[in-house]
Amino acid sequence: MTETHVGIYERLAIYRKAEVALRDFFSATNYCLPNCLQSKEKWGRPKNIGCCNGNAFEFLKGKKDAETRKTIKEFKRLQKENAACQNHREGECDYHSETGCQIERYLSPLCLGFVCSPYSIHLKNQYHIMYSSYGAISLLQGILEGREKLEEVNVWLTKVRKATERVKQEQNKKGELEEIVI
Ligand code: SF4
Ligand code: SF4
Repeated sequence: MTETHVGIYERLAIYRKAEVALRDFFSATNYCLPNCLQSKEKWGRPKNIGCCNGNAFEFLKGKKDAETRKTIKEFKRLQKENAACQNHREGECDYHSETGCQIERYLSPLCLGFVCSPYSIHLKNQYHIMYSSYGAISLLQGILEGREKLEEVNVWLTKVRKATERVKQEQNKKGELEEIVI
């Protein structure tokens, strides 16, 4: 993709739009908390950690051009401003707590876009949604680097919102089914 001249605050605003859409999607699917974070143990790790067993939020590579460096610096500042750091516990990310991640806004691309394999299979089997962690993380990173075209981000946003609607509709249907059984 070619270099664009999208400024820092425009990049951050686009990122927030993507973040809100993805958080809505993940929240609608409600997978991590019951299936992983509340489980007694997952893949040999202690309770409640999930995939937050390291400071994945620090992984913000970014191209080395000046505008991207400034964007990432501001992104990190905003992230810190919108998060409560926990007392560090061995084997966990600094932002991880009993109730999950404490970053409320400006979650880093890797943290925001990643879903593990069981989650991805659940999305496919349950909702026929083929979610690509790699695609999402790369797009989020691209927004911060100013290399992602707005039209492409908008196409992706439309798909995420459509997927969210599908999840909500399917869950409503399930709700109706459960009522009949009762
Ligand atoms: S993405 Fe997977 S490993 Fe990470 S918290 Fe969710 S269910 Fe657990
Ligand atoms: S920043 Fe949040 S999502 Fe990322 S690893 Fe830490 S607790 Fe997990």
